[in-house]
This record gives sequence, C-alpha cells and structure tokens, in this order.
Amino acid sequence: MRFDIMTLFPEVVDCVLGSSIIGRAKQNGIIEVFSHNIRDYTKDKHKKTDDAPFGGGKGMLMSTQPIADCFAAVKSQASGKTRVIYASPRGRIFNHEVARELSEYDNIIILCGHYEGVDQRIIDTIIDEEISIGDYVLTGGEIPACIMVDAIARLVPGVLSDKECYEKESIASGLLEYPQYTRPREFNGLTVPEVLLSGHHENIEKWRLEKSLEITRQRRPELYEKYISEHK
Ligand code: SAM
Repeated sequence: MRFDIMTLFPEVVDCVLGSSIIGRAKQNGIIEVFSHNIRDYTKDKHKKTDDAPFGGGKGMLMSTQPIADCFAAVKSQASGKTRVIYASPRGRIFNHEVARELSEYDNIIILCGHYEGVDQRIIDTIIDEEISIGDYVLTGGEIPACIMVDAIARLVPGVLSDKECYEKESIASGLLEYPQYTRPREFNGLTVPEVLLSGHHENIEKWRLEKSLEITRQRRPELYEKYISEHK
C-alpha cells in the first residue's frame, strides 16, 4: 500500500512516520510513504504558496497553483484504487471503521492544509473526501495525516506481526481492552491478579472478557450496549 502526503512541512511527516513500527514496515517494503513539499511546485518567484482570502478575513489561504501542480505529479505516480483525502475539521470523523475502509485502497493521497486552509476550488476538483480527526482545530494537517497513516497502515497485512494484535485491541474488538501486566509480579506493593499467573487459559480469557465488559460499560456505555446487542 502506498501513502502520499502533500504538505508544506514534509519534515514533520517524515519524522513521525520514519521510526518504530511504521518506519520498519517502510524499510521492509510492506508500505510506501512519500511526503511531497507543495512549496517545490510554486511558480511564484518568492516561493509563496498562500494568499489573502477574497472577501477579507484573518489569515492566509493556501493557493491553488502549487497544490494543483503537486497533485498532478503525485497522481501520475499513483496506481490501483486511489483515494484523495483533505485533512479538515469539516470532514467525516476518523475512527477504526474509516481506517478499515481506507486500508482497502492501494493508494491514499492526503492533502495537509495550513493557515486558514486551502482554496475551495482545490477541494472541489481533486479531493474525494474531507476527513477530520476530531472536533478540535489544529494548526496544520500534518499530525492528522500521520494519525490516519498510522491507523490505516497497522491494518495492512504484515505491518503488525499478527492480525490478532489489532483484532483483540480496544475498539477493533468492539470493547475496550482489559488491564495488562508484565514483570515484576510485585511493584510498590501492588500485585498482579492471581488468575493471570495461574496458567489456566480458559479462566484467563474469562477474566479478560469480564474486565473488558466492566471497563467498557463504565467508560463507553454506547459501545457496551452495541456489543451486548450483537453478542446475545
Ligand atoms: N479555517 C479552517 C476551518 O475553520 O475549518 C481551519 C484551518 S486549520 C487552522 C489548518 C489546517 O489544519 C486545516 O486546513 C486542516 O488541514 C488541518 N486541521 C486542523 N484541524 C483538523 C482536524 N480536526 N482534522 C483534520 N485536519 C485538521
């Protein structure tokens, strides 16, 4: 799977997506992630990529030409099923279902806005969908793009060692995760629940499900109700 991120700040994206599990998946050729500096495409002699909005108002808007030319270059390298996303607080809220849906594509192209955002004509002509990572406003689309790439990439076969790694996790399983413990058995007087040391797999699974249900009911009653209605 290939991700292309169009941004004015490629160093942010490269830094976040260059290490740990996603960095390793890139090195192993399981996914490809390319950042594209929109500024490299501007025809303005001062390398400007933004301008004041028509109609007035505070802040600057990212101009059409550099983004359109950057997109043309990126699109010419795309192949297979492609989705073009604009990271935007106006978009559909990103969650596990959206990540799962997007993991079915061969190529995801993400446009990161900055300042007051981008000229509407860019959205109207090159964007398939606006996606928001939540009901708050950030200074730029780079962090949202990294969040989306990270969440989608870990669903791509081979990125995690085992499908079970994400299927059993919070949200993907339909519940929130049970408490987990590792060595030592005692820390500052706090011990690990006996059942986890028992080696009795059936009892361990039963305890984990009970804890998951309890935590989900307390913290996310709507998820709990959904899970219960689907597992009657
Ligand atoms: N003027 C825009 C508005 O009111 O909708 C907000 C612009 S915001 C300051 C700058 C850029 O950050 C946006 O163009 C978008 O790419 C990104 N951004 C900010 N919040 C976001 C969110 N919750 N989800 C996705 N992208 C976001």
